[in-house]
Order: sequence, then C-alpha cells, then structure tokens
Amino acid sequence: MYPKVIIDLPKLKQNLDAVSETTKDRGGCSLAIVTKVLCADPQVVKMIAAHPKVDLIADSRIKNIATYTDIAHENGKKTMLLRIPMLSELAEVVRYVDLCQISEVETIRRLNEEAAKADKVQKILLMIDMGDLREGIFFKDRDLIQQAVREIIDMENIELYGIGVNLTCYGAIIPKYENLNGLVEIAKEIEVQHGIKLSMISGGNSSSIYLIDKGELPQGINNLRLGESFVLGNDTAYETKLPGTTDEAFVLEAEIVELKSKPSLPIGEVGVDAFGQKPYYEDRGIMDRAIIAIGKQDVDIDSMTPLDDRIEIMGGSSDHIILDVTKCKEDYSLGSKVRFKLGYGGLLKVMTSAYVEKEYLI
Ligand SMILES: *Cc1c(COP(=O)(O)O)cnc(C)c1O
Repeated sequence: MYPKVIIDLPKLKQNLDAVSETTKDRGGCSLAIVTKVLCADPQVVKMIAAHPKVDLIADSRIKNIATYTDIAHENGKKTMLLRIPMLSELAEVVRYVDLCQISEVETIRRLNEEAAKADKVQKILLMIDMGDLREGIFFKDRDLIQQAVREIIDMENIELYGIGVNLTCYGAIIPKYENLNGLVEIAKEIEVQHGIKLSMISGGNSSSIYLIDKGELPQGINNLRLGESFVLGNDTAYETKLPGTTDEAFVLEAEIVELKSKPSLPIGEVGVDAFGQKPYYEDRGIMDRAIIAIGKQDVDIDSMTPLDDRIEIMGGSSDHIILDVTKCKEDYSLGSKVRFKLGYGGLLKVMTSAYVEKEYLI
C-alpha cells in the first residue's frame, strides 16, 4: 500500500549511537530520547528502550507515553513528560509519567493531591524560561522561583528532582554557555537557599548538543532531551549535520497517478488555491507533470526533498502533489514510485497521518 514511509531501524540506531556517545560519554549528561515526532512508533520505541545509553524516554503527549510506560520500565528507563501538563490530565501524569516538566505552582499543588491519592511521590522538573519565552518561570523573577521552590519542597507527594530549560522553540534563542550557565546559577541559588540537592539540570533539546563538541556546555548541566538530532541527525542551533548521523532513516514513497505534458502556466483568471493562497507560477513552457497520491493531509510540502534531484515539487493540495519530471520523464511512468527524504515537519505529518503505511527495515 502507498504512500508509505520506510523506517530504517539500523540507520536510526546508528543515529542513536552517535548522539548518545556525544551526550553521555563526552558531555557527561543523562539522555532523554524524545518520541513525539514519531508518534511513539512502537518499533522505534522498542529500539530506544533496548539501547544501553538511554536513561529516559520522553514525549509531549501522555497518550504516547502510556503506550510505552511498561516497556520503558522493563528496560530500566524512566518516562518523561515534556509538555507542561493540563490540569485535566494530572491523574494520567501520576499513572504514566516518572518525571514531569512543569511551570505553574497551582498545577504542582493539584499534582501533589493526585499523587497522594495514588500513594506516589511524583518527580518534577521545574521549568525556567531563560529567554525563549515559551514555558517556565522567567529567569529574572528570582523571588518567584524561590517562592515556588519553598512551597514545592513542603509538598509530601512531590519531589523537586531538578530544573530545566527549553530553548530554540518559540523565540528561536540559541543555547550558549551564558544562558545555560544562568540556569546552573539558578540551580545553585536554590540549593543554597533551601539546603537541598537537585539531581537534574536539564539543558534543553537538540539545539544544545553542539555545545558539547565545542567544549562550551557549562559544568552542572547534566541532562539533554533529544528528538530531531536523533531522528534526522540535525544540530538545530546552526542547522549542521551531527557527525556519524544520517538523515535517511526515513524515506517516503508515493505513487504516480497521472503523468502528462501540460503548460507550466494555468489557463484562466487566477483566484486562490485550495488553501486560500494566491499562487505564483513561472512560465517554463511545456512541462512533464506527474501527480502523486499524497497531499498536505499527509506531509508538509516544504519539508520533503525528492531523492532524485532531477525532480522538482511544484505544489499540492490536500490529497495531490504535483511534480515537474521534465528532466527525467523516461525513468518514470504511471504507477512508478517517487522517493523523498523528510525534514522535521514532513516527518511529523507523515508519522501522524493514518493514510501513510509504515514499513520497517530491520
Ligand atoms: C520537543 C521537545 C524536545 C525535543 O526537541 P528536539 O528539537 O526534537 O530535540 C525537548 N524538550 C521539550 C520541552 C520539547 O517540547
């Protein structure tokens, strides 16, 4: 069945070997591998759970975590919730999540109550916003941070396991020695003021890993949470490729359902396309155009690249993508499959679409 995504598990394992070697062996960090872009695909989770250098398996959605709590625990790994929880899902947090990132004291109070009901001590990571302006208590609000900690450490069913930061998400702020060391400073202030020891200072996502090889990851940062660097080998701070990784662990295959020579300019008055956008066309004369049976419901057109570099993506709608195959028409015919590499957005959509089949190379 097509379209399908071919998931090359040995190549993915190669990426995991590479990022875990950097993060654990050279960076001295514990490692959380993030499954959200893959919708916690069970075959991939099995591979992650079996990997000796993974400490935590993390996701932003409890629904995904619930599918692998058991296999994680059987393999000695902890589960971690990345998205700060909704008040309406705290019972599920207590049930499935070992370590919960969180930023609202009110949510922590309610979580304490839920944990008490289940007779559990829930570990949390208090999120600090170092300037990216997504989740966390703002780093300049030192009094708020200390007040929160004072209240948390009195809660019977909550353990303040550590603090964490997320960067390069909303504000696209790049992790540097300075902002991550700011997080370490806050951890020290907490430890001194409250006479406690924090087990984890989590220094961010795939945009932080480049600091290890530059020797600029501050002393004290002892955890990273890696998604994109694992699945695609991307250093997301400066968009370079991490050594030893590949971006071809996932290949998308779609089938040609029409192949015709047509003009490159549409005929008639131009309105808006299926998504309300005013299209722009370039006149390239008569073009060999292939339609493949996959669309914006299944993939992000700006986040897929034909493996055959003679092919160009012209555009698409919900269920169709149009390709310019003028330079290679003789190699394709009705029913041929066209292969694509995927970027993060494309992979996310492909793995989320119920219409894309999955095939595994083992
Ligand atoms: C998604 C996410 C990650 C992983 O990000 P990558 O860029 O894929 O490594 C880490 N932490 C949080 C809080 C996230 O939401």
